[in-house]
Amino acid sequence: HAHNLARRIQQDLSLLFNLDGFEHHVSASIGITFFSGDSRSPDDILKQADTAMYSAKSNGRNTLVFYHPDMQQHVDNRLQMEKGMRTALENNQFTMLYQPQYDNAYRIVGAEALIRWRHPEKGLIPPMDFIPLAEENKLVIAIGEWVMEQACMQLREWPELDYIAINISPVQLRDAEFVERVRQVMLPYEKEVRRLMMEMTEGIMIENVEDTTRIIRNLQNMGIGISIDDFGKGYSSLVYLRNLPLNQLKVDKGFVHDIDSDANGRVIVETIIAMARHLKLDVIAEGVETDTQLAFLQGQGCHKFQGYYFSHPLTVEQFGKLLKENHKVVARDS
Ligand code: C2E
Ligand code: CA
Ligand code: CA
Repeated sequence: HAHNLARRIQQDLSLLFNLDGFEHHVSASIGITFFSGDSRSPDDILKQADTAMYSAKSNGRNTLVFYHPDMQQHVDNRLQMEKGMRTALENNQFTMLYQPQYDNAYRIVGAEALIRWRHPEKGLIPPMDFIPLAEENKLVIAIGEWVMEQACMQLREWPELDYIAINISPVQLRDAEFVERVRQVMLPYEKEVRRLMMEMTEGIMIENVEDTTRIIRNLQNMGIGISIDDFGKGYSSLVYLRNLPLNQLKVDKGFVHDIDSDANGRVIVETIIAMARHLKLDVIAEGVETDTQLAFLQGQGCHKFQGYYFSHPLTVEQFGKLLKENHKVVARDS
């Protein structure tokens, strides 16, 4: 009965109406909870309906959802994570791993900085489990600044390394103060900034080409390199690419994975590498796991690689040791 009633409300609300000569319509997300003679307070009941309503909203517009106790669990978890995240920076709970990037001569040329959250109860949390939430509540802006600073500190400690790449969230890029914040963070790292690379996904660039171009130019004027992450996964529009000032394309690990199994995957990788060459961009493949993938990539003219075939992401100590060893060995060989 509640379901039918809610549908009728939605139908009536969705009728077109005229306002000041313009046609309008509205939609409603409806959350429903039941109560009868139990001990819950009116506040609790309304909160449950509210929780169901938010769940309806996230399912898309004009939907209705019944409250279920699991939802509360989900909301509580999120709230807890969010609270924890707000103090995680002060409490030094974030940590960076560095995954080496190699050239054809097996020399370590760069590293991608990858964040982890050392949670006091939940243990090590991967970025997929907290970055999306940090993007929603904008904490990713503060976290991103911390990441930049960590990367610069490591660049100073590792002069052998050509560059470190950090991941930039679309939320950071959309922040009107982004360029100014970067400038502030970089002040003490005048030398290191030239060895910093920023990875961004293409979606955000294409969303607003003019703004993105201006931001990227400002970053490049500071000496920062720009790499397109997960390349091939999004729109990959040549028109936009040609106009954007970029330094590197990073072939998405999904396509690299398909090299082994799928002729289409090979064609896509081949095309991306050729495209990078025409656009005079550096190209790197991520997610390289096998001999065959590596050989195919080299055959196509890709000369930079990152992936488990070479190394997993490493702690600062592990990376520092590997870097020194690697450069000794490469120097001896050549
Ligand atoms: P991503 O930028 O695509 O990073 C590469 C991910 O692939 C990393 O996962 C890395 O550990 C993993 N990977 C590396 N080699 C291989 C391989 O050979 N095979 C496979 N299957 N996977 C490989 P991770 O560290 O869990 O990071 C996941 C995502 O979280 C990143 O994807 C990035 O989008 C985001 N992220 C990580 N650190 C940061 C950060 O500091 N800031 C922001 N905004 N996002 C971050
Ligand atoms: Ca990345
Ligand atoms: Ca990637």
